[in-house]
Amino acid sequence: MPKMTMTEKIFAAHAGKTSVTPGENVWVNVDVLMTHDVCGPGTIGIFKKEFGPDAKVWDKTRIPIIPDHYIFTADGKCHRNIQILRDFVKEQDIKYYYDPDFLDTDEGSGMPNPYRDPTKTNYKGVCHKALPEEGHCRPGEILLGTDSHTCTAGAFGQFASGVGNTDAAFTMGTGKTWLKTPPTMKFTFHGEIPPYLTAKDLILAVIGEIGVAGATYKTMYFAGEGISSLTLEDRMTLTNMAIEAGGKNGVCDVDQKTLDYVQARSNRPEWEVFKDDPGCNYVFEHEWDLSTMEPMVAKPHSPDNKDTARNCSDVELDQAYIGSCTGGKITDMIMAANILNGNQVKIPTFVVPGSTEVHQDMLTLGLDGEKVKDGEPSVYAALEKAGCTIGPSGCSACLGGPSDTFGRLNEPKACISTTNRNFPGRMGHKEAGVYLASPLTAAASALTGKVTDPREFVSEPILTGSAGVL
Ligand code: SF4
Repeated sequence: MPKMTMTEKIFAAHAGKTSVTPGENVWVNVDVLMTHDVCGPGTIGIFKKEFGPDAKVWDKTRIPIIPDHYIFTADGKCHRNIQILRDFVKEQDIKYYYDPDFLDTDEGSGMPNPYRDPTKTNYKGVCHKALPEEGHCRPGEILLGTDSHTCTAGAFGQFASGVGNTDAAFTMGTGKTWLKTPPTMKFTFHGEIPPYLTAKDLILAVIGEIGVAGATYKTMYFAGEGISSLTLEDRMTLTNMAIEAGGKNGVCDVDQKTLDYVQARSNRPEWEVFKDDPGCNYVFEHEWDLSTMEPMVAKPHSPDNKDTARNCSDVELDQAYIGSCTGGKITDMIMAANILNGNQVKIPTFVVPGSTEVHQDMLTLGLDGEKVKDGEPSVYAALEKAGCTIGPSGCSACLGGPSDTFGRLNEPKACISTTNRNFPGRMGHKEAGVYLASPLTAAASALTGKVTDPREFVSEPILTGSAGVL
């Protein structure tokens, strides 16, 4: 039996084979197919064209549909996309659909009112955050999604990858897809994560090292005790940005943190844990010592344009943005709030919870990630008091969107952002310059108006308690 990696074992198990090798094409059974408001309508159109107007999806319990991209906008075309999803969900009796129920879909009706209470809406927010929260992520499974950051779910020890609408439509009708087995690159981090670093600094260092095409069609495996020391949410930041290096998928080992989360959340009772065989083949290996790493940024206009935050201390900023599937999780919010608490931001600072659950946690958790105590600020209150403008959950300005999108860069401004992509125009204006950074660096920079190394503000570990876990 050949020695195999986690991804190879998942492929073999889903192809009904005992082994596969990198480069081998296999038909696999897909466990979950996710789509959203941008690509859902296109996928549905292809599904109907190819399978027939009366065709039924392969499994109505395995196709979560999560609108998140263009929600809080007056743009009628965006509202129409939601209505297409609603009609399809009704027609197919799709089990898991997270409707923006506050959205008025009448053409030309104007901006929808945000949900009033994040616990009283079916709407979730960013799909990659909602997928694990709602129990759709499990070790050993194959999850596909019509979004390039579907690779986020690899943090749960599964194969997760983005696909185009045509491939998604095929899976929608058959439950299968055809995949080439990717070879694996191994990135090992030694030591414990220091208080001034997050996974964002690690992944910016990786992408800066190998470039935006450095992992093209490869598995990026993040290993070592440094990865074990990260929260599960922070590992999602690593796997989320695998695609920024061209990776087919990103994976982390399954440990007790993973199992605790999945046992509490999964909507199916069984899964299988796979891990790399000792001595399996890696096409590339690189190692870092966390104690020698520094807070990183990716300068305009590419995620591999790496530099240290320290080196960029003369860069003047116009805006800060804390949100997205990369930097809008509750642990990201706690990190930012600990730096901002008791201070005042110097530049407009937009905060967007990654999901309605994150939004609710911001209201109920304190700066240590535990239930807020009397007389102490919640994460939400600390951010608001520091002068941040907090919007409703969703993708918002991470990908620009219509001009009325919350936090969008409508002018050629300089912005520090916890998002994952900074190609020209990504957050709005084509001449805006976006500096990708951790929530610590973004918060520190919001206080000074310049790119700022968070070591100026943080020396002790920031505790996140059970936030983002149960
Ligand atoms: S938050 Fe940004 S990166 Fe994440 S799914 Fe939305 S648009 Fe894509």
